[in-house]
Amino acid sequence: MYKQRGLLIVLSGPSGVGKGTVRKELFQQPDTNYEYSISMTTRSPREGEHDGVDYFFKSRSEFEQLINEGKLLEYAEYVGNYYGTPLDYVNETLDAGRDVFLEIEVVGAAQVRKLVPDGLFIFLAPPSLSELEDRLVGRGTEKADVIASRVLKAREELEMMNLYDYVVENDEVSKACDRINAIVTAEHCRRERV
Ligand code: 5GP
Repeated sequence: MYKQRGLLIVLSGPSGVGKGTVRKELFQQPDTNYEYSISMTTRSPREGEHDGVDYFFKSRSEFEQLINEGKLLEYAEYVGNYYGTPLDYVNETLDAGRDVFLEIEVVGAAQVRKLVPDGLFIFLAPPSLSELEDRLVGRGTEKADVIASRVLKAREELEMMNLYDYVVENDEVSKACDRINAIVTAEHCRRERV
């Protein structure tokens, strides 16, 4: 088969649904075939997070400079902080024929949808909204006012599910990962008819 440009895989969904957990589990699997694009953010590192591993941590002015210089594929302001995807890394990796995996919130995913319509868009959904609220409270990493605004946001985010190619329920992390891997494999079979 021809070596084609890589596939841009976008995993999105509401805050607290477990996107980060699912993504980490996917990348721990030895046979994972896609590259994770590390995002930029102005949020402060949480305990155990490292610059260049979990995120590239930037000041607001550094981030705004990246926006002005057109260095981001997409970006969004999310609960008071900027988050964005580095454009060069994504393009270079796709051009090299490797798949790139983005784990981003829904506003950014909608921007990518417009720019890269042939990407693969997967929405990670919670079993229910009440379960999602329990997870946001239970995570214990944020103060009550931040949790409240994330719950509000999650309700809006759930309404965007219909814009995606696939909806994967995150009832169990390993099952969600199996479904995502199956979707990526199927998508390659569908596209690479040469
Ligand atoms: P957290 O602060 O919990 O790490 O992330 C908050 C939200 O930002 C999550 O929904 C996460 O998926 C999203 N996010 C992480 N990186 C990016 C990015 O590069 N762009 C966008 N639009 N969202 C991101």
